[in-house]
Amino acid sequence: MKGILNYLNEVEQICQKIYANQLVKQGEGNVSIRIPNQNALIITPSENDYENLAEENMVHMDFDGLVLQGKLKPSSEHIMHRYIYRKRPKINCIIHTHSTNASILSVLHNDLPVIFEEMAMLLGGSVKCSKFAQAGTEDLPKAALNAMKKQNAVILANHGLLVVGRTSEYCVKTAVIIEKMAKIFLNAKKIGDVKVISIENQKKFIEIFNDKYSTY
Ligand SMILES: [Zn+2]
Repeated sequence: MKGILNYLNEVEQICQKIYANQLVKQGEGNVSIRIPNQNALIITPSENDYENLAEENMVHMDFDGLVLQGKLKPSSEHIMHRYIYRKRPKINCIIHTHSTNASILSVLHNDLPVIFEEMAMLLGGSVKCSKFAQAGTEDLPKAALNAMKKQNAVILANHGLLVVGRTSEYCVKTAVIIEKMAKIFLNAKKIGDVKVISIENQKKFIEIFNDKYSTY
């Protein structure tokens, strides 16, 4: 079994990757992973310092919000992370970013349609935009899960992106792909009519999603 240090290290590594991919700026966003069989998670601290990451800065807390270990304050979005882990037991990792292009869609309250087959495979379909809900409240994860339904990602209205998954590798990869697809979609829209992939042509990829990546 993995020890707590492994989980602290895993969160640190996710942070490194999302910062290197410019999905978050200094102090933005938050990341967590579930600790199996513990009703607990490791989450990034409030105002996460991506330039000086340290395992001891991560916060170990239980699903009721009690801090078990950590000297810093947990991200203010710990309410959202705890809520989602309780409601969706197959989710083991959550990444929340304010990545630029996904955030542009979020202020437009625009879904991200399936424009590459890869999206249907990784995401099970288009990425929906949620209804607006205030950050730091339980309304936010409720709105997020409502819009996300059986999928693994959602655009949070006027806020950014939320990706969930079975593994941190999947979540990082998916957050990177969504940002790239959002950029392609928004740029294509400026030039002309964006052609999306039909539901019929997504089917075979959605089956792969259901089999490999679904957390529902
Ligand atoms: Zn945020």
